[in-house]
Amino acid sequence: MIYIHIPFCKQKCSYCNFHFSTSLNFKDEMISAMKTEIRLRKNELENKSLQSLYFGGGTPSILSADEITSMIDEVMKYFSFDRDIEVTLEANPDDLDKNFLQQLSKSPVNRLSIGTQSFFNEDLKLMNRAHNASEAEGSIKRAQDFGFENLSIDLIYGSPTSNLEIWKENLNKTIALEVPHISSYALTVEPKTALESWIAKGKVASPLEEEQNKEFYYLSDFLKDNGFDHYEVSNFAKPGFYSRHNSAYWKYKEYLGIGPSAHSYNGFDVRSWNVANNQQYIKKLHTGILAKEEEILSQNDQFNEMIMIGLRTIWGVDIESLKSKFDVRTHEHFQHEIQSKIEEGILVIENNHLKIPEKHWFMADGIASDLFLV
Ligand code: SF4
Repeated sequence: MIYIHIPFCKQKCSYCNFHFSTSLNFKDEMISAMKTEIRLRKNELENKSLQSLYFGGGTPSILSADEITSMIDEVMKYFSFDRDIEVTLEANPDDLDKNFLQQLSKSPVNRLSIGTQSFFNEDLKLMNRAHNASEAEGSIKRAQDFGFENLSIDLIYGSPTSNLEIWKENLNKTIALEVPHISSYALTVEPKTALESWIAKGKVASPLEEEQNKEFYYLSDFLKDNGFDHYEVSNFAKPGFYSRHNSAYWKYKEYLGIGPSAHSYNGFDVRSWNVANNQQYIKKLHTGILAKEEEILSQNDQFNEMIMIGLRTIWGVDIESLKSKFDVRTHEHFQHEIQSKIEEGILVIENNHLKIPEKHWFMADGIASDLFLV
């Protein structure tokens, strides 16, 4: 699978620390550099028949439909597409006007992941999103009118402007819109963000973990009652609508990341990442040199990653594959560390897979890190 990172956004959301620029001055140079990177890395994926192509960001919908199609064409020059390839575009509600959707509906893009975040203006204002509540709703309906059935929306819970009642209304609206996939995250205060500085100055209250915990469990119960599978801590899907792209990440498959700050993984022991700087990226690629660094993952890194990712999913960690991949020392460590947690009921083994029971998923990262090899 291939991930393409579009490093531009209209404005900076108050909670975000991803890599992007709000200036579009070098957009053409960036697209050209990314096409060069696609060509230079054409031999990297072992399986050339792609099951997923994913445009993330940043804000991919800031590009025109023609620009997106031209990048897909570039990928198709060097890789073949599975007949039922999933081609996802992350899109912001304010970009999804009729004209854009109409053109996009004629492109290979067949899945939209819409950055809705909330259907309430107070939340959206605090988050400094570029859209308002009516655009949040309208964009989903318009996308459906243009034939995009495979839709995902992002929702953020636990904002200081929200509470359990508002959150319930957000979820009621989501169900009424018949969206088949939802990714939902707690509002977190990242370093060097506007949100962090507003909280430090006392302008905004800190998100409360207790409130977030309540909203998370309401989310999980409510969506399951409405026919969704809770298949990863932050992801819910109707049967047949699991994200193929993200599921492949969670099953440690190989992927290629194109664009500044994008990561790649060879499915085994090498991870690489591109420079998180637009100018440096463009400069390097225009001289035909890749702008990436790579590291060989140690046994400890590979083990920790497998635990961290696997325990966040309904599939859990495959104990047989863990046994075959790691040495005796690692396996002994694993057996020893899981024992007390199994006795406490925080971990279970089902069909030779280690899992966290769903009622403890809110604490999944903490439970996983207790098993790490250091
Ligand atoms: S649109 Fe997405 S990537 Fe851009 S600033 Fe907002 S959250 Fe971050």
